[in-house]
Amino acid sequence: MKNKTTITVETWKQTVVRKGRPRAFWCHVCEVGTEMFTPDEIARFAKITTREIYRRVENNTFHFVETPDGALFVCSNSIQKSQNRLSRPTASGNGSKPGEKL
Ligand SMILES: [Zn+2]
Repeated sequence: MKNKTTITVETWKQTVVRKGRPRAFWCHVCEVGTEMFTPDEIARFAKITTREIYRRVENNTFHFVETPDGALFVCSNSIQKSQNRLSRPTASGNGSKPGEKL
């Protein structure tokens, strides 16, 4: 009976992880416990490619943690900051020139 219980619990845990629900991790940049998402999940709700997500992880735009088994989780705070920057209009007034670099 005891063995059966253990198996059930492990199966349940795996199912939860696969569902892709947000997990809480400690973000060493924000220095708070924060919700973390996989690149796949971010790609879905932030409408950017996973390739772009890895690029932002590498240039430190996104904070991240890596689990011992190699899974990558990205800090939701850093995603939000980055999204705010993106959604802000680039032309803030009438004086901006079309060809100007950002
Ligand atoms: Zn963070």
